[in-house]
Amino acid sequence: MKRLNNVCRVLVPSLFLVILLAGCSATKGALQNFNLFSLEDDKQMGYEMALQIKQNSDNEYPLLDTVRYAGAYTHLRGIFNTVLNSGGLTYRNDFNWRIYIINKDVKNAFAVPGGYIFIYKGLIDYLDNESQLAGVIAHEIAHVDRRHSSKQISKQYGTQLLISLFLPQDANEYLAALAAVGNSLVQLSFSRTDEYEADAVGTSLMAKTKYDPYETAGFFKKMMDGQAATGQAFDFLSTHPSDDKRIASIQALCTSLGVQPFTDAQKRIHVTNLNALKTKLKTPSR
Ligand SMILES: [Zn+2]
Repeated sequence: MKRLNNVCRVLVPSLFLVILLAGCSATKGALQNFNLFSLEDDKQMGYEMALQIKQNSDNEYPLLDTVRYAGAYTHLRGIFNTVLNSGGLTYRNDFNWRIYIINKDVKNAFAVPGGYIFIYKGLIDYLDNESQLAGVIAHEIAHVDRRHSSKQISKQYGTQLLISLFLPQDANEYLAALAAVGNSLVQLSFSRTDEYEADAVGTSLMAKTKYDPYETAGFFKKMMDGQAATGQAFDFLSTHPSDDKRIASIQALCTSLGVQPFTDAQKRIHVTNLNALKTKLKTPSR
């Protein structure tokens, strides 16, 4: 992938901001929370990454064709838009919100800055009901809306540049360091704090929709139980370390929000709805 040039083009102008900041009396804590990027930077990075994923669609990220599987995409976008339009986002009208299906039997989903969400077919096939899928999507939307990717990269670049102020290094080494971060952008691991924030924001978004917010914890439990039962390592859990405390925290938030658990009849409808999507994933429209 040609991530290096694209990422550097976005990042290098912003590095002057770090130098400026380092020259001020900013505290280390303030630097760690600082976001080097503008909203336009987030959108540009997301656009470039989505473009590169599409260009590598034959290999690493085989995207499910949006025309041949129009029925599945319409269904998925219905869930996506329901969460997006819940009224709880900060950047609903600022980012280019898009969702794509990667046609691989992998239990994972990820987001890149600026509004682009990617979900693997293997995860949709694995989940039990539409609320669990909405929960995964809400969690990824929360990462984007809270700009966790660009904040995470800002921390990494900021630290590197502060070191470079005292230990001058070769420009090529610095660009190589930028490339290393750029190459990890797709599967960026967030901090525990960011993960808990995405859980909380995603659950709050779900609470404003027709979906069951308890399933924001349900999909974690489903994957934890499945991983323990099969002995397989689920990709989503590798970037989302999950335990009973994480699940309990989401459930406690649901309780504090006054959410009523779904009735059995409601649960059956959401199982039926997800099964309909699974069928559409097996059925090309043309
Ligand atoms: Zn996450």
